[in-house]
Amino acid sequence: MAGIYVHIPFCKSRCVYCAFYSVVCRREKSSDGHRDELMGRYISVLTKEIQLKKDIYRNFEFNTIYFGGGTPSLLNVSELEFVINTIKENCKVGRVSEFTIEANPEQLSFDYCRQLKHLGVNRLSIGVQSFDGDTLKFLGRRHSPEDAFKAVDNAKKAGFENISIDLIYGINERSDSIWKEELENARQLEMNHFSAYALTLEENSILYKRVKANRHEALDEGLAKRQYDILAGFSAKNGFLHYEVSNFAKGGYESRHNSSYWFGVPYAGFGVAAHSFDGRMRMWNAPNMNDYFTDIENGRRFSGQEKLSEYDKFNEYVLLRLRTAKGINLFEATELFGAKKVEYLQTCFREGVDRRHFEADGSSIRLTQEGLWFADGIASAIFLTE
Ligand code: SF4
Repeated sequence: MAGIYVHIPFCKSRCVYCAFYSVVCRREKSSDGHRDELMGRYISVLTKEIQLKKDIYRNFEFNTIYFGGGTPSLLNVSELEFVINTIKENCKVGRVSEFTIEANPEQLSFDYCRQLKHLGVNRLSIGVQSFDGDTLKFLGRRHSPEDAFKAVDNAKKAGFENISIDLIYGINERSDSIWKEELENARQLEMNHFSAYALTLEENSILYKRVKANRHEALDEGLAKRQYDILAGFSAKNGFLHYEVSNFAKGGYESRHNSSYWFGVPYAGFGVAAHSFDGRMRMWNAPNMNDYFTDIENGRRFSGQEKLSEYDKFNEYVLLRLRTAKGINLFEATELFGAKKVEYLQTCFREGVDRRHFEADGSSIRLTQEGLWFADGIASAIFLTE
C-alpha cells in the first residue's frame, strides 16, 4: 500500500497566513494564451518527472491519490486528465480507495465538479476557511461566503458524498461567537469531514511579516485555545471523531491518504517542493520552480535525499502518532524500536507529562482532547538526540 501526492503550485493570489510554495497565476480555467505558459510548462515537466521515477516505485501499489497545492482546481479537466493518465501509465495504481483534490470554492462550478467525478475523483477538500465575509477578506481569500455554500452544494449535486472543508480559528478580534457561527454553518452543510486549523504565524507568510513590522498584533494564544475547546465540544456533540489534532470525521470518513502518512505508509510525491518516502529513505524535489525544471529536464530525479536514522524514525513516530486519537500502540512500538525505548516512553509520560493530558494502559498511550492541543510540545520533550 502506498499513496501518491501531486503538488500543483499555482494560486490566484497569496493568502496572508500561507507559507506553502506557490506561484501567483491569474488565469481562469478556461483561458489560454501567454499567461498559461508557465502552467503549461509545469504540467509537461511534472509528467516527465512521473515517467522519470517509474522504476523507483515499481514495487509499490498505490491506493490513494491526493492533488494538493497551491490550488489544484486551477487546472482544467484535460490537464488533470493528462496528469492522471501519466500516473496510471507509469505507476502501479491498484484499487484507488481515495482520490482527493483540494479546491477553492470559487472554482467549484457544478460542471467542473461533475467532470472531476468523471475523472475518478471521489473526495473534495474545499478551502472554505470561513463563512464570514470580513474574516475572508482579512485572510486574503478571494471567495465570498456565498461561494462557499454554493461550492458544497455543487459538489453534492454532482454526486460527491466525501467532502471536507477547511476552517481557521484563533484569529484576533474574531470573537468566540463568530467561531461558534462558523461551526454552526459547517454543521448545516451536513459535512462528513472537516479540518480546523489554529491560525499560526508561518515564517515568510504575509501575516508574519506584518507582525514583525508591528503592522499587526501578535496572535492571541489564549483565544486560540478557547476556540479549540469550543471546537472539541462541537465535534463531540455532533458525532465527529476527533481523529487527529486538526481533523474531524463522521465514522468511516477519516482521510485515508492523510492517515496513511501519519501511520508511516510510503508515498511518492510529484511536483515542485514535493517530498517522498519509500519506507526507508526520504527524498525531496527542488523547492522552487526554476531548480525543479532544471533538475527534471536534466534527468535528475531528486534534489536531495536522506536515510532516516533510528533516532529520526523514533522521533517522527512519536510526533505523528501522538497527534492522532489512536496514539502510540506499545506492541507496535516495541516491535519497531525495542523494549528499552518503550520503557523510556512510558517513563517520560509518567514523570514528565501532566496526568490530564494523556491516558495510558498496557497497550497504548493516547493524548486526551486537552492533551492533543499540546501534542507537538509533548512529543518534542520526548525526542531523542544522537
Ligand atoms: S492558502 Fe491555498 S490558496 Fe491561499 S496562498 Fe496558500 S496554497 Fe494558495
